[in-house]
Amino acid sequence: MRKLGLALVAIFAAMSLLGGCTSKPQKSSGKMLVAASIGPLGNFANEVGGNLVDVQVLVQPGASPHTYQLSADQMEMLSQASVLVLNGLHLEFWADKAINAADNPKLIVVHTADGLPVIEGKDEEHGDVHPGGNPHVWLNPMYAIHQVETIRDAFIKADPSHKSQYTKNAADYVAKLRKLDKDIRAEVATFKSRDFITFHPTWVYFAREYGLVEAAAIEKSPGREPSPSEIGDIVDLCKREHIRAIFAEPQFSPKAAEVVADECGARVLMLNTIGQPPDFDYIKMMRDNVNEMAKALK
Ligand SMILES: [Zn+2]
Repeated sequence: MRKLGLALVAIFAAMSLLGGCTSKPQKSSGKMLVAASIGPLGNFANEVGGNLVDVQVLVQPGASPHTYQLSADQMEMLSQASVLVLNGLHLEFWADKAINAADNPKLIVVHTADGLPVIEGKDEEHGDVHPGGNPHVWLNPMYAIHQVETIRDAFIKADPSHKSQYTKNAADYVAKLRKLDKDIRAEVATFKSRDFITFHPTWVYFAREYGLVEAAAIEKSPGREPSPSEIGDIVDLCKREHIRAIFAEPQFSPKAAEVVADECGARVLMLNTIGQPPDFDYIKMMRDNVNEMAKALK
């Protein structure tokens, strides 16, 4: 207990210094308490669990999952949760420390990206942004299906008496994801331009699935703004390849993307990768993203 107490005090102290926004864990009223690292995984957990679960999303919109800090209330909630739903691939770099500090023997930790074919995060083109492999698997709806089924299996393990309900809920949601995949495929097929430049290499799994091409990523290492010569290289490439779209995200500064777009006549598209509260509706988010892409690529 003493060791846990000290560890928690250290973590809480570090967090209060950062003064992040906090939300009190809700009373779970007999429901299974589930923590999910990011909005889309929280949405999947809610779809699979239905009214049997109380899902708390840890990384809120506006925050980058790559630089996130858990709040003291979130740590308290983890110490009582039954399941922690993670992406994996080092997206949740804070997870091991938080799990140790939560000291919760009943907590089932599930890495939903396990078993998916990972794209390397480190190469000449894209720099060193994701040394552990590119983590943004959920942005490919076909991979999201794998993540939903992994969550289903974890819920069945944590709460076997409701196996049939979790199984049915997961199957219903997977059917909706298959429809989403079909619709995206049909829409992307109408795009006249397939190349894009991105600030952060977030769309690699989506691009591979639907035949788009990430021509360059502006950010070369995590959190570092590109140098003028790096921006110059990307502007040259943008002009040479007649690229029409620069993908940006609200959690990263759009400044560099706007500079490149102004220089080469491309358009900055603001895409959403972690959804919006209260329900973090993944399917709506992906439909909105594809509509946004169409503005420049169609
Ligand atoms: Zn990333």
